[in-house]
Amino acid sequence: MDFKEKIRIIEDFPVEGISFKDITTLIGNGPVFRTLIDNMADKLRGQNIDYIAGPEARGFIFGVPLAYALGVGFIPIRKRGKLPAETVAITYDLEYGSDTLEIHKDSFEKGARIALVDDLLATGGTISACARLIELAGGEIASVDFIIELTGLKGRDKLDGYSVESVVQYE
Ligand code: 5GP
Repeated sequence: MDFKEKIRIIEDFPVEGISFKDITTLIGNGPVFRTLIDNMADKLRGQNIDYIAGPEARGFIFGVPLAYALGVGFIPIRKRGKLPAETVAITYDLEYGSDTLEIHKDSFEKGARIALVDDLLATGGTISACARLIELAGGEIASVDFIIELTGLKGRDKLDGYSVESVVQYE
């Protein structure tokens, strides 16, 4: 199935010069969305995954159905201040300023094998912070999976040592 064809490109969003990859057209198509999740689940099955984890908001869109398909739990990685119980946090640099991501301290057992999922790999800043956060909390990153990879930004270089996969690539 041609998933790339289902992704809509919006030029100059959110700012001029950015060619935004809009996944709403992909998830809006039931059979396409289901096939995408089924394919990703098939790939992860047999890898002894204990949990799927994904950052808000688009990591939830793909991570939750994937966790459901595999019959494992989902761990939401959230922006600061959203989670109600005790958290582990990580602060990471953005182009301008910084951001903090959190997970619940008791969201998984030490040594749990966790597959990280997000919609898109650009510079790799977000997902490498997520990986460090999971490791800080005692988890093991089993794999890192994206729907879209912007290969020209070399986000993979920040994920050295992990098994990284993407469904669709753009230069
Ligand atoms: P990075 O941290 O790798 O530079 O940026 C990746 C994050 O930014 C992802 O969480 C993703 O949701 C968001 N992002 C950046 N550019 C795009 C885009 O063109 N399309 C979508 N859907 N998300 C983007």
